[in-house]
Amino acid sequence: MNSRRNFLQKLGITALALQLAPIAGWAESTPNDNSDYDGPILRVAIMGLGSYGERVAEAMRGCKKAKLVGVISGTPSKIKTWQSRYGIPDKNCYNYENFDAIKNNPDIDAVYVITPNGLHHDEVIRVAKAGKHAICEKPMAINAKEGQEMVDACKTAGVKLLVGYRMHFEPKTLEVIRMRKAGEFGKIKFFQGLCGFTIGDPTQWRLNKKLSGGGSMMDIGIYAINGSRYMTGEDPIWVTAQETKTDHVKFKEGIDETIQFQFGFPSGATASCLSTYAMNNLDRFFLDGTKGFAEMQPSTGYGPIMGRTNKGELNQPITTHQTVQMDEMAAIIFEGKQPVVPVDGDEAVKDLKLIDAIYLAARTGNKVDVKL
Ligand code: NAD
Repeated sequence: MNSRRNFLQKLGITALALQLAPIAGWAESTPNDNSDYDGPILRVAIMGLGSYGERVAEAMRGCKKAKLVGVISGTPSKIKTWQSRYGIPDKNCYNYENFDAIKNNPDIDAVYVITPNGLHHDEVIRVAKAGKHAICEKPMAINAKEGQEMVDACKTAGVKLLVGYRMHFEPKTLEVIRMRKAGEFGKIKFFQGLCGFTIGDPTQWRLNKKLSGGGSMMDIGIYAINGSRYMTGEDPIWVTAQETKTDHVKFKEGIDETIQFQFGFPSGATASCLSTYAMNNLDRFFLDGTKGFAEMQPSTGYGPIMGRTNKGELNQPITTHQTVQMDEMAAIIFEGKQPVVPVDGDEAVKDLKLIDAIYLAARTGNKVDVKL
């Protein structure tokens, strides 16, 4: 037995978790093991073969209930590479001009949209009109109005709309949620979410307003927004926010560099959060109640997530988030499974309403009331 396995077994991590859990970086290419599953397989086409698309595709090799079967890309050379890497047939390959024809392809159930944020709205609506389930990356859209239009389009088309909220399936996160629901932290009083990193290349789409919809808030601050809701179990009723910008060349008008924001909840609990593209070492959640606390760091990165509560270390299994997410999404679509925290379009619209409110509060300096 090698020393890594020995170490993990001492931590009480199962063989399955070991198989699914690279300690850092990329998912290992574990072939699908469907031996104990004979239900339907969610056949997925990925749209947008960029860095996160590649991560999802690699992670899907470990899925039991989902399989990568198609691609949509504007770059023929990438399609060729993915075809040979994942055994994708020519008939399941599309580009951005012709992908509406996916409507006539009975071998694809769902399209996973992993393109720049500003494109999600139109692409998801086209997927819905083609009669396929839509899985969309976060942020689902660049404002609540566009998000609601996506929800409505999927409802009209009778397809599911799910959003890549991978933390909603992460075992340590779910344990904190379980403890909070069971009253083990007492009455929740406060949440802190710190999310950020120093962004590189100034020419990338994340710093282009039309493609990103905004700056750090759209990309990384959304984890603190969404986390404040699943950690406290409440939806905010007011928002305040303050923006600071140190580099007006890199972070142009409409691209936020750093925003600190606060939420008030119906119970009287509050949240204080930071979203930034200008600092590292920020991936931390802290939840405080009258009887206890939870702290997680890293709290939303690819893993391993680490944390402790007043009762001790969180030692739930380490997972490859995207593998679990895709298997769980297959169960949501085929079995009507209800996740502990929703991952549907309505959940995403709540976050988008909060993003709209944060930008408004930062711009005006006013306290903004919200109703989710
Ligand atoms: P990326 O730049 O690595 O990839 C984007 C892909 O979209 C590229 O393949 C690019 O060619 C393609 N694309 C299609 N049309 C384009 C256009 N008009 N302009 C630019 N690119 C175009 O970005 P990424 O990191 O893969 O992010 C994609 C999406 O995934 C974003 O919405 C992002 O927020 C999300 N994401 C989510 C997570 C997560 O953990 N859930 C992590 C990273 C990214």
